[in-house]
Parts: sequence; structure tokens; C-alpha cells
Amino acid sequence: MRLFLIVSAICYAAISPAGAQPLDLFTKTTTEVAPGVYSYGAFTARSLFVVTSDGVITTDPVGSKNAVDMRAAIAEVTDQPVKYVVYSHQHWDHVLGGQLFKDEGATFISHDKCIPHFVGHPNDDLVMPDQTVTGDHDLTLGDKTLKLMYFGHNHGDCMLVMQVDGTDVLYINDLVTPYSVGLGFMPDYDPGEWVRTLHELEARDDWTEFVGGHGIPVAPKEAMVQRRRYMEALMKAVRDGIANGQRLEALYDNIELPEEFREMRGYNTHIRRAAERIYHYYTMGW
Ligand SMILES: [Zn+2]
Repeated sequence: MRLFLIVSAICYAAISPAGAQPLDLFTKTTTEVAPGVYSYGAFTARSLFVVTSDGVITTDPVGSKNAVDMRAAIAEVTDQPVKYVVYSHQHWDHVLGGQLFKDEGATFISHDKCIPHFVGHPNDDLVMPDQTVTGDHDLTLGDKTLKLMYFGHNHGDCMLVMQVDGTDVLYINDLVTPYSVGLGFMPDYDPGEWVRTLHELEARDDWTEFVGGHGIPVAPKEAMVQRRRYMEALMKAVRDGIANGQRLEALYDNIELPEEFREMRGYNTHIRRAAERIYHYYTMGW
């Protein structure tokens, strides 16, 4: 696959396969990951935008400042208007800041199950969706179709994985942050269903790379497999600890996974809270 860096920034050269500290977390870049399909953002947050023959589809605005920057980045590659904004899921660190696109006339789309979250946790910077989907859905604009895929409850209950039809690149927000363990403590995570989702994605042979909601511009499928194996190792360690009579305090203090996972970004920061979340999953039933 040909990668073309539109906005130059030497941010990622120092990233090792194990996800060592990058030199620059915040410099925003635009990377063409398939013809007309762009990964946009910085290490801290990332979105996808798709240039079609009849306008632009973009995913998460990420915030009002980011939306301004992303709109300028889109203008660098096309003078087409933004016609759709698709939310990947309900979390505020991805969906806020879309008013600029609303003012341009874009139609906002999310999974239907995001709506109760948006209503129950209102935010002045959130543009409510105009349309919702309840399962898999093909969003066609001009010469491209963005496939919206729903895998049920995992990282929350309204996550959409996306793929421009005919490409081998997925947009997988937050289910995987490449070479990272991710946050461990969010109450809306369903760890078992999350691992099931990663297995279902892994079994598909129609993709080889993905753009995540955070991290490097595009990552190989093996980074998703690593994350799935990390989660299974974490869940086994907690399960074994409970079977051996360990209570939360002991698990929290002593959790340690095999060395291959300790090299993942964020391991030392998040592993104890991740273990706490899994402990409650097995002892509280959710
Ligand atoms: Zn999230």
C-alpha cells in the first residue's frame, strides 16, 4: 500500500514496533492510507476522512479546535464540501466539536444506541446525530461506499467499525490503540464482548491495516492481534488470581503479565486499574 504524507511532520520515526515513546504526540498529520482515504490527527487523537466524487465523509471531530484543523487539512486535498460526519462511538474525546461541519451542512450519523448516552450526558459541544443506524450500513456518497459495521457491545454499546469498500484498511476506534494497552477502567467496557469483537475482526480476511482512534497513522493487523492477546492474558491472570483466593487488593498490587505485554505503551500506568476492571467483571457479573 502506498502511503503519502500530505502534511510533513517527523513525529513517528522513533516509534519502535513495541510502541516506545514517540518524539511528538501533538503534531497533526494527514496520511493517505488508500486512494482518497486519509488518516488525520496526532498521536493523541485520530480520525478518518474520505474524499468522494460528490463530497467528503469524515469521522469524529475530536473537539472544536481539532475540527478547525481537520477542516483545513481536508481543504488541502479537496475543495469538496463535507457532507457526512460519522461518529465512531459515544465518548466525548472523539465526538465533540462538530458544529463547524454542521454549519457547512453536513449530516451527522451514529449508531442508534449512542443516542441515550448523548441525551443522558449532554454536552454543549456535541452535535446530535441527524440519522442513526441499528446495525451494518452502507453509506454511499459519489464513487465511494463507507461500510459501517456493528459488532454489538464491546467498548461501550454503540461502536461502529468502518471500511471504505474495496480497500484493505479499517477504521477501528478505541477497540485497539496500536501497541498500547489503552485505558483500563471505563465502566462501559464489556471485556468479554470486546475480546469476542476482536476475534471476529481478526477472522476477517478483507483487511490488513487499520487506523485507530489514537496513536500512529496506520498500523498492521498484527497490532490488533497483540491487543487481543494482551486482553486475554490480563483476563486469565485475574481469573487465575481469583481462583487462587486472591482478593482485589492483592490482585491490584501484584498483577503482572508476561514480558511481551509489559512492553506495550501505557502498561505501567494502566495495568492495575485494568486488573481492577476485570476483577469486577468476574466478581460482579458485568
Ligand atoms: Zn472510547
